[in-house]
Amino acid sequence: LFVVFEGGEGGGKSTQLEALAARLREQGRDVVMTREPGATVVGERIRAMVLEDSGADAPSPRAEALLYAADRAHHVATVVRPALIRGAVVISDRYVDSSLAYQGAGRTLPVEEVSWLSSWATGGLKPDLVVLLDVDPRTGLSRVAARNQGADRLEAESVAFHERVRYAFLDLAANDPKRYLVLDAARPVEEISGLVGRRVQELLVD
Ligand code: C5P
Repeated sequence: LFVVFEGGEGGGKSTQLEALAARLREQGRDVVMTREPGATVVGERIRAMVLEDSGADAPSPRAEALLYAADRAHHVATVVRPALIRGAVVISDRYVDSSLAYQGAGRTLPVEEVSWLSSWATGGLKPDLVVLLDVDPRTGLSRVAARNQGADRLEAESVAFHERVRYAFLDLAANDPKRYLVLDAARPVEEISGLVGRRVQELLVD
């Protein structure tokens, strides 16, 4: 089973990812928790290229899209597919939808082209479930600023950028409702983890 958490900054993805992994491990399941970008050695280097350089040193939008695609191709080939093949539950912090939302809607690259690039990179591997933690960018960005994690880089993007990203995620969910669980990230942590746990449990018994 392949579960992906998506959403804007400060929506609490990592907290929810860990809660789900803990719940499944308690049941004795083999769980692989992973993330994009940066889950592998190659990915760590790509993550530094896309996230640490800013201003004139930042990769151009198409270069950035190719770097995320390269990270994903390597991640799927070396982490996600092998784990799925041995029967593990794979839980990833971000996947293809992040590229459609950030590189597509955010950087205004044609979304179909970004989608094609991702599907080439992954060999067409789709998640069984996407949990979208929907967050108002103003709330999310202020949570990130409070943690002071990459706040400078995020502030460089306009609120309009983050709003395009948010609505792109919501659109993807609206177009494929069976594959998505859309939750308001402002709800209490335990309520969200309960809903995610229930949905994943249903998929595991199917
Ligand atoms: O999930 P995490 O906060 O670690 O993501 C790091 C950053 O990478 C996010 O702030 C997001 O802006 C950016 N990102 C992106 N395109 C992707 C994935 C992540 O711009 N496909």
